[in-house]
Amino acid sequence: MAKKRRKVRATFRKHHDAAQRDRRLTRTFELEGADATADVERGERLSGKGRLTRHRTVADAEIVEDESGRLVLPDVDKRTCLLGRVLRVQGLVSRVLGDNGRLYACATRQLLKQLATDLRHVVAAGDRVWIRPEGKPPSDGSPQEGIIERVEPRHGVLSRTSRGRQQLIATNVDQIVVVASAAEPRLKPNLVDRYLVTAEKTGLRPIVCINKVDLVEPSDLVPIVGVWSQLGYRVAPVSATTGAGIGRLREQLKGTQTVFAGQSGVGKSSLLNAIEPGLALRVQHVSAESQKGRHTTTTAELYPWGDPGAGGLLVDTPGIRSFELWDVIPEEVAGYFRDIRPYVSQCRFPDCTHTHEGFCAVKDAVADGWIDVRRYESYAQIRSGE
Ligand code: GDP
Ligand code: ZN
Repeated sequence: MAKKRRKVRATFRKHHDAAQRDRRLTRTFELEGADATADVERGERLSGKGRLTRHRTVADAEIVEDESGRLVLPDVDKRTCLLGRVLRVQGLVSRVLGDNGRLYACATRQLLKQLATDLRHVVAAGDRVWIRPEGKPPSDGSPQEGIIERVEPRHGVLSRTSRGRQQLIATNVDQIVVVASAAEPRLKPNLVDRYLVTAEKTGLRPIVCINKVDLVEPSDLVPIVGVWSQLGYRVAPVSATTGAGIGRLREQLKGTQTVFAGQSGVGKSSLLNAIEPGLALRVQHVSAESQKGRHTTTTAELYPWGDPGAGGLLVDTPGIRSFELWDVIPEEVAGYFRDIRPYVSQCRFPDCTHTHEGFCAVKDAVADGWIDVRRYESYAQIRSGE
């Protein structure tokens, strides 16, 4: 059944001449993630009322023009709306932590959905949003309802490609803590390198966190830690059991949105609890819950911790499996190895894989000791897709 469209007229600023009008019509939306130019061109109508007033109907609601002529959503009414952060999106409902410290269960404004090319991308965990609370806070303590009116511009987008489409996993992410363990299970540097490739690709600041240092001699770790440090990666040796290094790690998380990733058994849960008591339990609860739910695959949850504003943590759990980001194609891998990248352009063959070719500058650099042998092996392994 065809849906009947409600036409809402918007008044534009006055005093545009015809030439300006033409140019302005081709402007694109500045809304993050919204590629809505086509919608505008199809949906808009200009009134014949001359220069003084201009009305335009786009989809179901009004779009306004800002000072520089860009089309934007109208400003939210700051007397009735408040800023918050999306903790989780499940189906049509987003859980938002308002800056007032209260939780809201929010639907998304219809217009925002129409501006986005893919419904699932309208709102993602980590988004800063303006919400309009509705009704009264329920007396049973469950979250008050609200409407997401606007999504603020994003940075640090964590996404993956699925069936040719980009899926947002989380936004406004600053860094990734790659958790490994010094022992039990033994350290797997190649796995850490793999996460580092992801960090390079997504532009997230990586911290290599080596847990369970209480199980080894500190000197055992020096060679491997040295290689990463020399490449400019921050390394945090810690022990969730003894508390060693936890204070410093906590400092590096403050005021950021950080992804925690790593194999199970390395002590992620213990680490979360060392950072803030009770945090691991919250994660386990949600992980178990999402394994049952239908909307599991793209669900990521942001866990606020510490004082308000201390930041949020996104945790990669088996139940959520959000951070499988290995959609790096083989040809890209060398570019994401900081130590290999500088040599690539000196290889004889432009499509050199740096594995079996002769006259390979990368292999020469390995032979001469400029590139760490283990890092090179790690490269070859990742490139071959093992
Ligand atoms: P997760 O699967 O990554 O969440 O790992 P857990 O936090 O459940 O920890 C796995 C095992 O490692 C548990 O038996 C923990 O007690 C142990 N563990 C965690 N952190 C440390 C640590 O710093 N030192 C030692 N010795 N054991 C740890
Ligand atoms: Zn080469």
